[in-house]
Amino acid sequence: MANQEDIFRKVISHAKEYGYVVQSSEIYDGLSAVYDYTQNGAELKKNIKEYWWKAMVQMHENIVGIDAAIFMHPTTWKASGHVDAFNDPLIDNKDSKKRYRADVLVEDYVAKIEAKIDKEVQKALKRFGESFDKAQFLTTNPRVLAYQEKAQSILKRLGRSLEAEDLEDVKNLIEELEIVCPVSGSKNWTDVKQFNLMFGTKLGASAESATDLYLRPETAQGIFVNFLNVQKSGRLKIPFGIAQIGKAFRNEIVARQFIFRMREFEQMEMQFFIKPGTQIEWYEKWKELRMKWHLSLGMGEENYRFHDHEKLAHYADAATDIEFKFPFGFKELEGIHSRTDFDLASHEKYSGKKLQYFDPEINENYVPYVVETSIGVDRMFLAVFSNSLKEEELENGTTRTVLKIPAVLAPTKAAVLPLVKKDGLPEIAHKIIDDLKWDFNVVYDEKDAVGRRYRRQDAAGTPFCITVDHQTLEDETVTIRYRDTMEQNRIALGVVNETIANEVGIRNWLKKTE
Ligand code: ATP
Repeated sequence: MANQEDIFRKVISHAKEYGYVVQSSEIYDGLSAVYDYTQNGAELKKNIKEYWWKAMVQMHENIVGIDAAIFMHPTTWKASGHVDAFNDPLIDNKDSKKRYRADVLVEDYVAKIEAKIDKEVQKALKRFGESFDKAQFLTTNPRVLAYQEKAQSILKRLGRSLEAEDLEDVKNLIEELEIVCPVSGSKNWTDVKQFNLMFGTKLGASAESATDLYLRPETAQGIFVNFLNVQKSGRLKIPFGIAQIGKAFRNEIVARQFIFRMREFEQMEMQFFIKPGTQIEWYEKWKELRMKWHLSLGMGEENYRFHDHEKLAHYADAATDIEFKFPFGFKELEGIHSRTDFDLASHEKYSGKKLQYFDPEINENYVPYVVETSIGVDRMFLAVFSNSLKEEELENGTTRTVLKIPAVLAPTKAAVLPLVKKDGLPEIAHKIIDDLKWDFNVVYDEKDAVGRRYRRQDAAGTPFCITVDHQTLEDETVTIRYRDTMEQNRIALGVVNETIANEVGIRNWLKKTE
């Protein structure tokens, strides 16, 4: 089996070769951690956003969507805490001159301990076979217990030091664990420093009158500052939510791992406004709903897990990540945070405007509490894309590369292929396209033998191929070929549209979240 790095390299090169993702301004050698989505990538991204928007806004009577500006009044970021606290602890290696996030160095170290636990489990599974009880093994095996204790105590200490902004202790921890720079292999570290992740810019034509602005580092604040506008104009009653999809910008210290950590990215966020005291109940509810949304795509239950935060952000009283198994291991895909009344109360203070809700049920005004769900479009894209890319051994001994993107998200839903370029078959194929294009993205392909065309569509992620052959002339049937199973069926021309609609329709997929 190929190792993680090989698999990830393949993901990146496949994304480029099949029109999904390329480096930004590639002809100038690219811009670090900035990427462009090309023709298929743009479609996949749009479909991911639609799948989220429909699940959150259209399916919930009490959630509405907005589209706020990227630029916001600079005081917004004072109030939100980003000017003072949106920092990452950075550390440099003096030999390689490489810069790292100190917390990530420690977390990577812990991930290695967790990998050792996994190895012990695999060994025991081999030894005990069917009678192996994993849960019991994890709670009784002395070696595993020692690893677990070590991992937990490291994370606890890291959490405590970061919370207390004790950067000296973070450095001590790195030294005590003898963490080395992955590039130079040395332990020659600088002190740990805080680094603010917001991008600054200027508004205005002349240098004297220009105002300092930030590119928003999250979309959430656009929702908070509009809380009353939306609540009043929509006559919304608590509990209710405001959703938004939009760009966010962070000057990440270490931006690697392709589109996992970018400097310009897109978020899908929803702030759910609730009565104070009900936050734990809603936090649990949103954890459940968001996990169901992920599972509805059928990308494997074993690829998701919750990871509760040890260190809470300045605004949160409970927080968890939905982690996904990326080619480089389990990492955060989505965050669910109970943000208390931190943001609204702070905007009240800084703006001098009341941001309260009159609750007719108890005849009282209060600043609502908020539970947030926040997912990166690009991370979701990477989750879908990397999970879908498979090399399959076929019965005849050959292999095929296939991109098994969930059909509801696939950029192109069907390819229509005339078996040969003559005898009127291309004309029929074009007629089919003319009908399907009203409902789906479809392509026409007549070049090369049909087997090669199937492979091309497999690799591009197209879930269905419709092939027109000589029998079509006689009985008005075509072959439909399924990408995932390679199964082929003959169906009547008249039911092609309906057959595809059944397989790609958002209803049939989202229903699974009910
Ligand atoms: P991380 O710990 O990975 O930096 P975070 O906890 O800072 O992420 P949040 O502030 O909770 O992330 O942002 C919500 C979501 O936005 C994340 O779950 C992720 O999907 C996405 N996201 C955050 N930063 C980036 C980035 N630099 N590139 C791409 N997506 C991002």
